[in-house]
Amino acid sequence: MSVIYNRVALIGLGLIAGSMSLAMRRGGLAGEIVGYARSKETRDTAREIGLVDRVCDTLPEAVAGADLVVLCVPVGAMGGIAQEIAPHLAKGATVSDVGSVKRAVIDAVAPHMPAGVQFIPAHPIAGTEHSGPRSGFASLFDNRWCIVIPNGGDEAAVKRLMDLWRGLGSHVDAMEADHHDLALAVTSHTPHLIAYTMVGVADDLERVSDNEVIKYSAGGFRDLTRIAASDPTMWRDVFLNNKQATLEILGRFTEELFALQRAIRTGDGAFLHDYFTRTRAIRREIIEAGQDTAVPNFGRTPEAEGH
Ligand code: NAP
Repeated sequence: MSVIYNRVALIGLGLIAGSMSLAMRRGGLAGEIVGYARSKETRDTAREIGLVDRVCDTLPEAVAGADLVVLCVPVGAMGGIAQEIAPHLAKGATVSDVGSVKRAVIDAVAPHMPAGVQFIPAHPIAGTEHSGPRSGFASLFDNRWCIVIPNGGDEAAVKRLMDLWRGLGSHVDAMEADHHDLALAVTSHTPHLIAYTMVGVADDLERVSDNEVIKYSAGGFRDLTRIAASDPTMWRDVFLNNKQATLEILGRFTEELFALQRAIRTGDGAFLHDYFTRTRAIRREIIEAGQDTAVPNFGRTPEAEGH
């Protein structure tokens, strides 16, 4: 693989930025990778483990001369950062992001972009419940999908960004922002909310002891707790910034839940059996599409989920 960008600036140095840096190195995709994080602690850790080629202490220093700047911070922080970096962006640069929500990010970032700079959002559908500069790993994006939102950017700049994501190991789809937000509300955002809720219910249930919740967790609860362990700031921002689609899917979810509740109360076994047969088929399709495979993660939880 050859160099796609001469200098890539990663803003935020957590799971996604760290994994991008390691995967860019693996593929030889960037001439230089520079990074910035707001806290000194994260910057020091990134320096100590050599996460990027150069860690900068300020945003202007990080984006100076970069031909690609990627915002890898929680969705709610992107607008403020875009405003701060705008005067320091190189002419002809591409700004992208990895946020789990797209319409709100475009609304927050695009107005700050100076003439001659392209804003082309993206969202890698890969992640884990871990966060911070030590959580990244080079294979995170392998065989996962990355959705790129062309957002009216010029064809060559969009293709270049797509080439980067292919080089990082992903399959790439182009999509319109609102469609992305609805699709992800179904596949990621609402499932996370349901996991948070169920773990919250178990936490509130006084008649079942904490000990029992842990001891019998392999009954299904364990898988929900992994999802519900995801970063609180990131997920707060996802729900606040994808309100409409999440509420739409949540409304449908509630209707289905009432139907199942009714079937249980009335003893309608046929309804339950048909329902579970239909849902089982979706699991088979995921396996056939190769999207259930575990990703090596430095000995951490060997699973990777799309967010
Ligand atoms: P992470 O590991 O928690 O890292 C977040 C980074 O953003 C840290 O460097 C943090 O800086 C910085 N940050 C946090 N709040 C900030 C603020 N208010 N202003 C400036 N910087 C701030 O997060 P991540 O998992 O890499 O997620 C980054 C982005 O990727 C999010 O937009 C998320 O929606 C998206 N995403 C995540 C996943 C996933 O599974 N995690 C998957 C796909 C996309 P400090 O360390 O200095 O606090």
